[in-house]
Amino acid sequence: MSNLISRLNKGPILCAEGYLFAMERRGYLQAGAFVPEVVLEHPEVVSQLHREFIRAGSDVVQAFTYYGHREKLRIIGKEDLLEPLQKNALQIAKDAAKEFKDLDLMVCGDVANTNVYDPNDSNSLKECQKMFEEQVSWAKEAGVDFIIAETITWVEEMKVALKAIKDAGLIAVCNYAIWRNGLTRDEYTPGDACKILEDNGADVVGLNCFRGPKMMMKLLPEIREKVSCHVAALPVPYRTTEKDPGFLNQTDEGCDCIPGGNAFPVALDNLYCNRFEMGKFAKECAEKKINFIGICCGAEPHHVREMAVALGRKPIAYKYYPDMSKHYTHGTDPTLKNLNTKVSKSF
Ligand SMILES: [Zn+2]
Repeated sequence: MSNLISRLNKGPILCAEGYLFAMERRGYLQAGAFVPEVVLEHPEVVSQLHREFIRAGSDVVQAFTYYGHREKLRIIGKEDLLEPLQKNALQIAKDAAKEFKDLDLMVCGDVANTNVYDPNDSNSLKECQKMFEEQVSWAKEAGVDFIIAETITWVEEMKVALKAIKDAGLIAVCNYAIWRNGLTRDEYTPGDACKILEDNGADVVGLNCFRGPKMMMKLLPEIREKVSCHVAALPVPYRTTEKDPGFLNQTDEGCDCIPGGNAFPVALDNLYCNRFEMGKFAKECAEKKINFIGICCGAEPHHVREMAVALGRKPIAYKYYPDMSKHYTHGTDPTLKNLNTKVSKSF
């Protein structure tokens, strides 16, 4: 078993995320508060999604602790569930990884935007610190291979998360979510914001969430140029645009019945990237020496498998990779009836 950094030194690794949205679509989690109670209420569903992502080629099994933090549980009045939720999520991830002994999988913990940080309130940093430290300590206890701090929009908040991870002696992957104006909320460019993290001891720095592959790719070269450590990129699989680069505010021109008009978060279906767009993104990352490659909110296993294939791999689910040669009308198999194949364009 080699660690994350030695793996990244050899080439790209793939990390499937997006558990929150996947569970919402399946009916096990409520959009809005977005708290992963599913790890306690229906752990088998979380195990199954881990399996599907692993079979699709994810090298990382990310414990579904995202938004299972103190502030999120407070807002739904269930702070007492904090520790069991966190510990269950970690155990589910470890158990899923154990099912695939032939694969060199890594298990990671996760901390995210606390939503309590306020640059005008110095006490808020202490509150963030406590929240990060408790989550990091449970992840460490569970023996994770590394911890991702993600979807954080402030440099100052990210620095606190990073410190909590490094103080625990763990490998830190730090991924910012970037606003519409292309900056962090404290107005650093992504490259400058990442360089600050590298200087503070981050092992991998980069971006996740908010932006689709094209709008994220625009920001990655500056990061790659400014840091010497490994870079991460995990976009959402939606076609966000120059006009609306982030998925938190999206209109679907093809639909007039979305309540409130914002396609985020539960009516983004028509804006989905297909598997090939995600594969193309993965390939482009690898070419640009961005080696921690993944996918965030919206991810499904078919996206992940195509990204794995784009990186030259044949994951377990490659067994069922599309082969249209045997399709009754679009196929080329000589035993197919000409009666059907000759009219394939007429359907
Ligand atoms: Zn996300």
